Amino acid sequence: MKVDCLVIGGGVVGAAIFNKLTRIGKRVALIDKASDVATGASKANSGIVHAGHDPEPGTLKAKLNVEGSRIFPALCKRLSVPLKNCGALVVGDDYNKVKALYDRGQVNKVKGLEILNREQLLKIVPNLQDNITVGLYAKTSSIVSPYLLTITLAEEGIINGGKVFLEEDLVSCKKQGGVYVVTTKKNTFETKYIINSAGAGYNEVANILGTETYDIKFRRGEYFVFSKQSTTRVPCTIFPLPTAIGKGVLITPTVDGNFLVGPTGQDSDDVTKTTADGLNEIRAKAGLIIKDINFKNAIREFSGIRVISGDDFIIENSKKAEGVVNIAGICSPGLTSAPAIANYVCKLLKFPTKELENLKKIEPYKMLKDYPVKVQNEMIARDKNYGEIVCKCEKITKGDVLNALNRPLKVRSVDAVKRRTNAGMGLCQGGFCFTKVVNAIREVRKIRYEDVLKENRGSEVAVGDIRDEN
Ligand SMILES: Cc1cc2nc3c(=O)[nH]c(=O)nc-3n(C[C@H](O)[C@H](O)[C@H](O)COP(=O)(O)OP(=O)(O)OC[C@H]3O[C@@H](n4cnc5c(N)ncnc54)[C@H](O)[C@@H]3O)c2cc1C
Repeated sequence: MKVDCLVIGGGVVGAAIFNKLTRIGKRVALIDKASDVATGASKANSGIVHAGHDPEPGTLKAKLNVEGSRIFPALCKRLSVPLKNCGALVVGDDYNKVKALYDRGQVNKVKGLEILNREQLLKIVPNLQDNITVGLYAKTSSIVSPYLLTITLAEEGIINGGKVFLEEDLVSCKKQGGVYVVTTKKNTFETKYIINSAGAGYNEVANILGTETYDIKFRRGEYFVFSKQSTTRVPCTIFPLPTAIGKGVLITPTVDGNFLVGPTGQDSDDVTKTTADGLNEIRAKAGLIIKDINFKNAIREFSGIRVISGDDFIIENSKKAEGVVNIAGICSPGLTSAPAIANYVCKLLKFPTKELENLKKIEPYKMLKDYPVKVQNEMIARDKNYGEIVCKCEKITKGDVLNALNRPLKVRSVDAVKRRTNAGMGLCQGGFCFTKVVNAIREVRKIRYEDVLKENRGSEVAVGDIRDEN
């Protein structure tokens, strides 16, 4: 396949770049080794669109965080991806540390920052711990579903001419007659430009491309997810004062109505897992911020891996291979920065950033329950699949699942359906819907049980028949 640009890695960064390149008229392909986009750090983070007071002034992190957060409202509106401007607080008992954050925010040109005393803080978060006396309020801080954003960026790119290839294993890259010939186990791509946005896999990809590798470290962040039924009020994102290793164990609502507590920050390998030590640390630290967290209401634990290379993002043209852009060490605030990173990459490649006219608009992810009752009844009358509940907890119907499977990005995993519909995200965590989703995937993709995945290759939901179905 001949393209102008090949993006390797479909996290939020690669998807934002892919999306942008399609919008400026490039022929572009995105490849990922996983079975879906957003299966790396982009599915397992706090989902916060940071205001930008945290990064060190003068860094790429600071610049792209602030630019990214300004792009988010219009971007999410265009993509119909829910973005909730709930604001964020950084709270503690040390005025000077809060003031230092405020000052840093001013240098980074963050709008809407305010220092609040305890009385003002309690008006926003009545259940704050007694020893908290001061806080920084960041009005522009918002929350988003990081995976729905990534998926929708990729899908909008597809309907505007881009191609996404999943489950691709890179084999080699050679330069022939001025173009790179990149081969995977399934395909060959001829391209002038390559963007390595493979996150934790950056060095592995760089070794195949023959480009710069960097000293990359991993830091695991573990979380608890709380049920929507929890009575604890979490009206906005609440951070403790930051430390040398990060922004600390925070509490944040999600756009779906749950709340998260975490992340920890252990130096680690790149394996996602939760640990007793990590979860105990969260239990201890969350109680330092608000009073009434009841961990009996936690319905799930998960972890995400921060990919760190030095103190700043690395986004640069390769000196070893002309036309290759290296993107490494995109830890937090990488989600917030992703749309600004896409613009930055266009500038590095000297591409015009002006977008084409008449670009197509992606259909929103809307479930039956999101429509007025009258419309719901009409939909059920038209299509009986909307009358069949697949996920009782989240009230997701078979029609919703089939819709998700029939969108531009063709997936075959239960977790991919979960990220698109929320089936499996409720109290029973998939106990009821798992097999129903598996069957829907089989029906739409016309595949065997053994070919349906939980998440990635190697997580097949079945190994074969134990008796003849006939
Ligand atoms: C615990 C935690 C909390 C965070 N909280 C926030 C937050 O609240 N706000 C914020 O702004 N940022 C946050 N971040 C940072 C943000 O999540 C990341 O910066 C962002 O998701 C990075 O996106 P990415 O596309 O670079 O990487 P990824 O999402 O990891 O994507 C990389 C992709 O490359 C693919 N890949 C890897 N190797 C190969 C290969 N050999 N061939 C092909 N494809 C390959 C992977 O499958 C993956 O899809 C957080 C991160 C963590 C870990």
